[in-house]
Amino acid sequence: MMINEQQLPRVLVCDDESSVLEAYRRILSGLVEPSSREREQDLDALAADLFGEELETAARSSNISDIVYCRQGEEAVAIFADAGRRGQPFAAVFLDVRMPPGIDGVEVARLMRQLDPAINIVMVTGHSDHRPAEIAGVVGAQDRLFYLVKPFDPDEVRQMATTLAHRWSSDRTVANELTSRLQELEKVNRALKLSEASAHQAARRDPLTGLLNRKGLQEQFDAAFSLASKEGRYLSFAYIDLDRFKLVNDAHGHTVGDRLIREVASRIVEATADDGFVARLGGDEFAVVCAHPDSLEEVVCRLLRVGETPFIEDGFNLPVSLSIGYCRCDAGQDSLSDAMRRADVALYSAKMAGRGGARIYDADLDKQFLLGQAIARDLKDAIDANALRLHYQPLMSADGCRVTGLEALLRWDRRDYGPISPALFVPIAEQNNLMAELGEWVLRQAMEDIQLWPDIVTSINLSVVQFAQPHFAEHVLALAKSAGISPSVIEFEITETALSQDMTNFAQQVATLRRAGFNLALDDFGSGYASIGYLSQFHFNKLKIDRSFVSNLRLKPNADRMIRSIVGLGEAMGLTVTAEGVEDEFQHELLRAAGCDQMQGFLFHKPCSKEDVERLLDKQRQADRAA
Ligand code: C2E
Ligand code: CA
Ligand code: CA
Repeated sequence: MMINEQQLPRVLVCDDESSVLEAYRRILSGLVEPSSREREQDLDALAADLFGEELETAARSSNISDIVYCRQGEEAVAIFADAGRRGQPFAAVFLDVRMPPGIDGVEVARLMRQLDPAINIVMVTGHSDHRPAEIAGVVGAQDRLFYLVKPFDPDEVRQMATTLAHRWSSDRTVANELTSRLQELEKVNRALKLSEASAHQAARRDPLTGLLNRKGLQEQFDAAFSLASKEGRYLSFAYIDLDRFKLVNDAHGHTVGDRLIREVASRIVEATADDGFVARLGGDEFAVVCAHPDSLEEVVCRLLRVGETPFIEDGFNLPVSLSIGYCRCDAGQDSLSDAMRRADVALYSAKMAGRGGARIYDADLDKQFLLGQAIARDLKDAIDANALRLHYQPLMSADGCRVTGLEALLRWDRRDYGPISPALFVPIAEQNNLMAELGEWVLRQAMEDIQLWPDIVTSINLSVVQFAQPHFAEHVLALAKSAGISPSVIEFEITETALSQDMTNFAQQVATLRRAGFNLALDDFGSGYASIGYLSQFHFNKLKIDRSFVSNLRLKPNADRMIRSIVGLGEAMGLTVTAEGVEDEFQHELLRAAGCDQMQGFLFHKPCSKEDVERLLDKQRQADRAA
């Protein structure tokens, strides 16, 4: 505790003889600071008479605030203790060595020292009293122990009182300074420790979300893992990826992107609750570590529900869809990097299966993953070597007699393996950043082929990933212009699932395409979440009923009713309705009766080469001319 610096020294005098006490009074009273001795003004006047101006000077320099006199040792100890308690300690004590009948001065001194080891004590001895060495042995602290031999010289008493008062004051000043320096040092030390701790924290935290970063994850994983190993448990690890975050970032800017990341981070933390801890690994990637595999399953379920509420920014609903890959980390034989690799493989597979899903790792996925990587490598080579082809599947009039359109479909004979379905390699291309290149190849090739049949509408499938390319719509228009094709003979097919993605950018691009005169079809209608609102918002011209409805016609009694209501909806909105995957007459009849405008399927034509298309169209033109 800080000592009160303003406090003036006090002096205690104890002698059993009243005449001696009176002598002290006379000698010392003049030393008392004028301001604190109003009650002793009479004595002052007396002292001034006796000692003159000299005393006033002494008094001013002594700075003693008051002097207490008493006659017995016990009383002195009590006064001394009480003063200490009240925070008004004495600077010096004058003690008579012999004070019958009570305890003697040496004992009093010993007791006072116990109460205040720093007290200055003056032992006033007679000739026959204890010898200084004996006294010092009992009282201790010789540097604060002084002797005065009776009968004393007034000057000596005065000088001693003044000196000790000064000494006490300066000791306290030094002590105060020391204390304040010490406190300052402690403060500096604390601040240093705090900043060290916060630097330690900062190095382990992601500044945007406050979650653990990679380094922090590594440390916390290691700690959790060694504990789990000791207890024979295993941890579980989940890799989480925010689907198509790049689109949001590109379309709305980084500030909105950052806000979305923070929102998602807090939803993940909420979903994880006390079952584990969360880290942000960069961009839109998060990790969750759970102490129990069962709890991870539950956490994953909660995480998947995180996407149910869209993130609203500036009136836009930004979809929050998470893809999750997770795995177990078996005690004793695992590391974070192993866990991350396996969860990543599972995540890859979850994304391939369509976004917004979760997948647990199993060894087969490794094979799938490696296969995916190998396919991606070969596909890249095939694009570069121009080894892909486009086939075209005719779209027929409702009666199935006339070709009224064509759909361009990718074909690839993979080196050493043979034909491989676009249903398999298109998602691989999307997943491996090849879609822009692949899509560009399709657009250029289709526009070249379309020049062969400029009188018929040709559909080109677009992947939503392509819309993320800057100025995509303008680029497409430029391609059509340079190929000399009117946009009115091109139709773009966009799958319904694309509509669950970032809408702002998509809407802008689509609007540009529509303004330029391109046609727009909503593909695989009924397989995803497209709302009727989207249909009018994006000005589609066509609905393509998902193949699954058609193949269900024989199996599910209500498939027929579903198709009728889709057709009704299309009619009401002025859209052409196309049925795809028509394989037999039974289906064809039902679809025609339901009111579908266009038919596509193996019943009429399989996808075929451009040469076959040309032959087919030539035949049709000849028949038209003959009619
Ligand atoms: P999609 O757009 O729904 O294309 C129709 C698919 O149905 C084609 O499969 C076609 O061959 C198949 N199909 C047509 N009629 C029948 C039928 O009667 N029965 C059955 N079982 N199937 C029929 P394909 O060519 O294997 O293409 C699969 C998917 O790959 C396409 O589905 C499309 O999503 C994607 N794809 C194909 N080419 C491209 C492309 O150039 N760009 C993009 N982005 N995706 C493409
Ligand atoms: Ca299609
Ligand atoms: Ca389709």
